[in-house]
Amino acid sequence: MPESVPRVVIVGGGFGGLAAAKALKNTPAQVLLIDRTNHHLFQPLLYQVATAVLTPGQIGSPIRGILGRQQNTTVVLGEVSGVDKDKNRVLVSSADRAAVPITYDFLILATGATHSYFGHNEFARFAPGLKSLADAVAIRNKILQAFEQAEAEEDPRRHRDLLTFILVGAGPTGVEMASAIATLIRNTLKSEFRRVNPESARIVLLDLAPRVLGSFSEDLSAAAKKRLDDLGVEIRLGQGADHIDADGAIVAGERIGSKTVIWTAGVAPSPAGKWLNVETDHAGRVCVQQDLSEPGHPEIFVVGDTASLVQGGRPLPGVAQVAIQQGRYAGKLIHRRITGKSAPKPFRYFDKGNMAVVGKGFAVLQSGKIHISGFLAWLAWAAVHLQFLAQSNLRVSVFLQWVWTYLTGQRGSRLIVNHYGPDRAEQPVEEVPSDASKSVRA
Ligand SMILES: Cc1cc2nc3c(=O)[nH]c(=O)nc-3n(C[C@H](O)[C@H](O)[C@H](O)COP(=O)(O)OP(=O)(O)OC[C@H]3O[C@@H](n4cnc5c(N)ncnc54)[C@H](O)[C@@H]3O)c2cc1C
Repeated sequence: MPESVPRVVIVGGGFGGLAAAKALKNTPAQVLLIDRTNHHLFQPLLYQVATAVLTPGQIGSPIRGILGRQQNTTVVLGEVSGVDKDKNRVLVSSADRAAVPITYDFLILATGATHSYFGHNEFARFAPGLKSLADAVAIRNKILQAFEQAEAEEDPRRHRDLLTFILVGAGPTGVEMASAIATLIRNTLKSEFRRVNPESARIVLLDLAPRVLGSFSEDLSAAAKKRLDDLGVEIRLGQGADHIDADGAIVAGERIGSKTVIWTAGVAPSPAGKWLNVETDHAGRVCVQQDLSEPGHPEIFVVGDTASLVQGGRPLPGVAQVAIQQGRYAGKLIHRRITGKSAPKPFRYFDKGNMAVVGKGFAVLQSGKIHISGFLAWLAWAAVHLQFLAQSNLRVSVFLQWVWTYLTGQRGSRLIVNHYGPDRAEQPVEEVPSDASKSVRA
């Protein structure tokens, strides 16, 4: 690709960034995709890595591998720390050197979201959130370790605390995690432990909201709650965690002893708004125009979880479909501009629906007026998720694993591996607005 063609820099190789890069496949441009990890991550299945159904390699694909055949595209491993709009450049640091500037003609920011502890960052040490593969493996270690320790524990109080799991946040991630832990205990671990009685395990799911799966209709929310009840999950609605420490949590004034507290409550956008120094919504997401560009900067686009766009009177949700459709739109718009074509119509999100799994063979599905719960919804969930995995080898491997787990109860990866990156407790947590979770998927 000659140096004289325009350069499109995409920051983030998640759903939005990858869709943008693919849309630029045939564009006479130099496309540069920068990500701080070397892989695209299928976040909707992270909970299955955290509960040992799938291995990390089944839901992550090297970005280089996905875009390898796209001749106009270069993948750069590095962390962006700022944008200099006057000089049209982003600042990128990599493992062994200080930040270097990379210039752009067009810029797409698709840097996603991070955890929000609603101003209680001190909880992060004791209640890890689920956002990356390292998070998922750290949580898997914690859950499996708790069972191993419980098997050897003589003290009844410690034994009980080891078998108590608290999930803070009853959105889709909290519900999926709670039901997956219940299934792990009842279907997989039951026969292998001698001193761990599945009936004595306690899974507590908390939320300040009045119902689980608040983004779904009331009938589906009720169906999910009933299913959770059947699985033995203790649901505490209208209650949040007032305090979390190494011994558990204080919930509505009551201490619940637990060695495993998992934060499934809030996420907040990346600092893209700070880099651009532009108007953001209450959650910190960049307010973009109807063509997803920054006001006054037609060469800068923000897509996915880190963008805020109101349509039909409501902000678009922080879900994969929004990020994919926005990334694709921004890529196509840039293609049209570079090739001298007229601008496309403003971006419109096409809502294909919402789904969440609640244990083995059960899901809830909402798409327009269609509301389904049960096995059929679970089949639809499985088909959609397989379809959106980044590579065909992963589709085959995940499908086979699901069939195997469904039939036998056996999981893909029940290894406790402590060498998988630093402990969450030592990782810094970004300062975020206290009500950030309202607009992005919990
Ligand atoms: C546990 C969990 C479960 C979910 N389940 C569902 C679901 O069932 N259905 C659904 O529709 N949505 C779900 N979501 C939400 C969905 O995953 C997000 O909406 C989607 O990933 C947003 O895409 P994105 O491109 O904006 O960001 P992401 O996919 O998060 O990608 C952001 C990318 O930017 C990179 N990055 C970030 N900062 C920098 C930087 N400074 N420099 C370089 N690179 C950077 C990251 O490494 C990452 O690769 C879930 C999310 C989570 C966390």
